Amino acid sequence: MAVPHWHVTYNDIHNLIRKVTPKIAAEFNPDIMIAIGGGGFFPARVMRTFLREETANKSLQIQAIGLSLYEPLPGTTAEQLGNEVVRTQWLSSSGKTLLGKRNLIVDEVDDTRKTLHYALSELQKDVETELLSYPESERDALREATKFAIFVVHNKNKPKHAELPAGTPYYAGEEVKDVWLDYPWEAISIEEHDGEALLDKRNAGA
Ligand code: 5GP
Repeated sequence: MAVPHWHVTYNDIHNLIRKVTPKIAAEFNPDIMIAIGGGGFFPARVMRTFLREETANKSLQIQAIGLSLYEPLPGTTAEQLGNEVVRTQWLSSSGKTLLGKRNLIVDEVDDTRKTLHYALSELQKDVETELLSYPESERDALREATKFAIFVVHNKNKPKHAELPAGTPYYAGEEVKDVWLDYPWEAISIEEHDGEALLDKRNAGA
């Protein structure tokens, strides 16, 4: 059976992010956002507006990484496709950027969780590599000061194929069923997209 689609509008996303940001500001208070491209770019930018409001205009960098799980890339082997997360972009000096900071990883959707798992574990590895350039006596304190949390606009309620380390702060704008989410930035006609979104909501009785 085909997976049902659910169309999400820019306004839906804006409002979901607006609702959850005070909690993230109060509990995690990020120093940096690491947006996973391309779906995490727009949510990260929107969240920065609300985070700055919550934190008296704390300056908040948005760094970008590019990961691909579903999109076939030139050179991706058949085995990698659908199984592996492929890096398309990374931070130039990741460990330096992240060390000692409160890092919020941002993506649009947590489906199988493979992408988030990959992003978090690879960024943590970069931090460990960076720590090697510090005296051993300073490493534990620096490691302790380096925090990671996750924000996704949508989390699909389904069995996940990868786990995040226990205790990782995790925030979702909304929990959804195992539907295929159509995001507005993927639409050619935004008017048609918004019309579909309205129909989806009507059909769901929302
Ligand atoms: P995961 O690694 O959690 O399985 O998938 C994460 C990535 O898969 C997302 O960043 C997104 O690019 C893509 N993806 C997964 N589910 C959906 C969906 O329902 N709609 C869209 N547009 N992309 C999805």
